[in-house]
Order: sequence, then structure tokens, then C-alpha cells
Amino acid sequence: MKKLTILGSTGSIGVSTLDVVAAHRDKFEVVALTAGSNLTLLKKQIEAFSPQLVAVVSADDAKKLDRMLAGKKPQILHGVEGMIAAATAADTTMVVAAIVGAAGLAPTAAAIMAGKDVALANKETLVTAGHLVMDLVKKHDVNLYPVDSEHCAVFQSMVGHRNEDVARVILTASGGPFLKWTKEQLSQATIKDALNHPNWSMGKKITIDSATMMNKGLEVIEARWLFDIEVDRIAVNIHPQSIIHSMVEYVDGSVMAQLGVPDMKGPIAYALTYPQRVPSGVKPLDLTLLSGLTFFNPDLERFPALGLAYQAAKAGESMPAVMNAANEIAVEAFLEGKISFMTIAESIEKTMNRHVAHNLTSIEEVLEADLWGRRTAREVLGIA
Ligand code: NAD
Ligand code: MG
Repeated sequence: MKKLTILGSTGSIGVSTLDVVAAHRDKFEVVALTAGSNLTLLKKQIEAFSPQLVAVVSADDAKKLDRMLAGKKPQILHGVEGMIAAATAADTTMVVAAIVGAAGLAPTAAAIMAGKDVALANKETLVTAGHLVMDLVKKHDVNLYPVDSEHCAVFQSMVGHRNEDVARVILTASGGPFLKWTKEQLSQATIKDALNHPNWSMGKKITIDSATMMNKGLEVIEARWLFDIEVDRIAVNIHPQSIIHSMVEYVDGSVMAQLGVPDMKGPIAYALTYPQRVPSGVKPLDLTLLSGLTFFNPDLERFPALGLAYQAAKAGESMPAVMNAANEIAVEAFLEGKISFMTIAESIEKTMNRHVAHNLTSIEEVLEADLWGRRTAREVLGIA
């Protein structure tokens, strides 16, 4: 039995994780769930999975949830302390980190420090604090399994191979809804256009990140830390069909790839059960039904966010955390209708230009850099 804490259980990844758990009740027990503000869904999840502990963001929501529940109730906590309590619960053996944004960092780091294995969906954890988190993973001798589909594909393509034989990691990208849009069209893109992802159904923030291609930039940084490979050896190929989820090229010229129907239940199940495989609920792939698989290079002029992420990765130190913070602020402002689509990348660049990268030696210092990035991005955008 794996005993799970699911951080972000009401999100897209959280819900898919519970789908996998529900299909394999003999393998998993749910110890703790955490959520933002979707109390209706959280209540249903509590009734279906009977966790010992739940945590929500606000104290008000914790009280509201308590009133909504009847009969035997779990312990109900709130705030970052609540998330950390869920991540470190004594009975938990594995934490699924599926909170969105830098808010996922502190609970995920706490889980590692408490000796829990982590199935990591929250890419912002490695983007903001990659070297510290990987040090913690080593120090506390825990396993970190990637849930991001590209990184799961890379991980699968590396099983049985030696790290030193890797020549390049090739991340595939769908290209998002704006793959064929001109710069002029992009300047007019609406929220609805940007949320209309062709292949994946995901939370709003990552869907916007896919439209700007910042998502792929965050994934380059995530891969840099997960697989201990320099950014210069991480390439991005646009692959609109999203069938090949990523590849690893070896020094002998061989390329290993992982293929499948795009459905996050695949990578989630693999992370939860590695090295075993279980039926995940993903439909089988029939290549004969596809009209073709195509690949090309990304256009950094139309998608400057990807280039900014490479720049931040090369600058290292506090720059990726600041870039990530500026991105979170800009995406939020775009989703609130306050700024245009192309302003997202412009404001990230301006925020990065104001930042002098410095060494980060603790999670607290990462959170300070994150706050600096948020403040500066708001100044750049002229929003409160
Ligand atoms: P989502 O918005 O659907 O869900 C996020 C979850 O986090 C929700 O449960 C929400 O209530 C909770 N949450 C939000 N803000 C919080 C806060 N401040 N404190 C605590 N909890 C908070 O997001 P998602 O699409 O499920 O993505 C989750 C993470 O997984 C992101 O980091 C994303 O980049 C990554 N990821 C998602 C997918 C996908 O297919 N959705 C794929 C790869 C990676
Ligand atoms: Mg991904």
C-alpha cells in the first residue's frame, strides 16, 4: 500500500491522480488532501477517499468545510502550515505535488525533508529552487518522480541507460493554440483564444503558459535539474500531435522516445507505481489512425517567453525564481483582462532586466526572490 498526500487535489492533476487511485484501491490509501477554494469538490473527495487530514488555503474556508461535512470528519487545517502538515503527515509515504505555482515550493520541500517520496507535477518547485531541492532529495535519500509528461517521457527513456551517455534531451511541445498565429494576430489574442489548448485539458495557469510557450521554458529548467544536464543540451521540438512526449538522444546517435495518447493519467500512474506499470485509464495508441507526426523548431520571435526562460536558466541563481514570479503575476493579470497577451512576455523581460541575479542558499531566500519578482512585475505592469 502506498499512502498518499495529494497537494492540490481539486486541480486538473489532483483529479486525475484520484482517478488513478480510484481504479487501484488495493494499491493506494489517501492520507491527506489539500485544496485552494473548491470546497464542493473537496467535500466529494473527502467522502470518497476518507483522508485523515485536509488543508485549505484560508481559515474561513476551513470553517466552512467543517460545517459542510457530516459524520466522521478529517482534521481540517489551513494556510501554508496546513499544507506543510499534510505534506509531512506521519503515515504518508508519497506526496503528489500538484499545487500550481511557487505556492507549491514550501510544502514540497517540507515533504522531502520529512523523507517522503514525491511525485512532482509542480514544475515551479524546480524552476525556482532546483539546486536546493535536488540537494534535499540527495540529503534525505528520497525518490523524486516527474509527473510532467515530458519529464516522465525523458525518465522512461533513461531507464537502463547511463546518465553520462546522454547527448541531448529533446523536449517536445505541442506549440499551443497559437502555433500558426502571426505576431499581429498574437497582439489581439483574447483570454478565450489562449485557454483553447488543442491537445491537453489543464488548469488555467499552465494553459496560458502553453500559449506563450513559457511552459516549455519552465520545463527546460525543470529538466536541467531533474536530469542534471546543462541547458545547452536541452532542445525543444514543436510536435503538434503530442504523441511523442519527449526524447533522449545518446552519444551513439540512438534516440529513445516515449509515445502515448496525451492524457496525464499515464505519467501520474507511472510516477505512483514505478518501476511497476498498471492500467492507467489512458486509451491505447493506434499509430495507423494518425495522419503523421511532424517536428520543427520553435519561433522565439513569436514566442519570446521561451527565449527568456533559456536566458534565465543560463543566468541561474535567483533569475529563474524572479522570472517565474513575474510570469505568475503577468498570467494572473492577463486572465483578469488587465493586460494583453504579448505584454506577458514583455513584462517578464522588463522584470528580469531590473534584477541582478544572486546566489540562493535556502528555501527562505528563494521565497524572498519570488516576492521581489512579484513586486517588481506589478510595478512594471502598473498594477496594485
Ligand atoms: P490547477 O489550477 O488545475 O490546480 C491547482 C491546485 O492547486 C488546485 O487544487 C488549487 O486549489 C490548488 N492551489 C492553487 N493555489 C494554491 C495555493 N496558493 N496554495 C495551496 N493550493 C493552491 O492546476 P493543474 O493544471 O492541476 O497544475 C498543477 C501543477 O502541475 C502546476 O504546477 C502545473 O504546471 C503542473 N502540471 C500540470 C499539468 C496538467 O496537465 N494540468 C501537466 C504538467 C504539469
Ligand atoms: Mg508538460
